[in-house]
Amino acid sequence: MCIFCKIANKEIPAKIVYEDDYVVSFLDINPRSKGHTLVIPKRHYKTFDEMDDEYLCHLMKGVKETIKILKKLNFDGYNIVNNNGRAAGQEIEHVHIHIIPRYEGDEAIK
Ligand code: 5GP
Ligand code: ZN
Repeated sequence: MCIFCKIANKEIPAKIVYEDDYVVSFLDINPRSKGHTLVIPKRHYKTFDEMDDEYLCHLMKGVKETIKILKKLNFDGYNIVNNNGRAAGQEIEHVHIHIIPRYEGDEAIK
């Protein structure tokens, strides 16, 4: 089972930000900014395009709900990032959406 499936199944601990029947959101272990969060489908898909439309809607709704919770951090903006395939920088082969809160004057993402 992949590492993000294990997080979804609570076999590996993570700092959970939001959860519903379809998704789990948790803080990135190596955050690029305060509140950097990953949103994953509970079902294993490798890449964004593998997901059926219905699940995709659930995933993106989870992204929105997670952003609502992160708003308590008083960020000034946020990036939504999704890497697919090694060439694009995908390290974990379980779809995940990065939510990267941004603060005025912070460093640009590398
Ligand atoms: P990718 O490069 O695949 O788009 O991003 C993978 C992300 O997962 C990285 O930002 C990395 O820090 C994060 N990550 C990898 N392993 C773990 C883990 O075990 N727990 C958590 N919370 N984040 C992880
Ligand atoms: Zn998985």
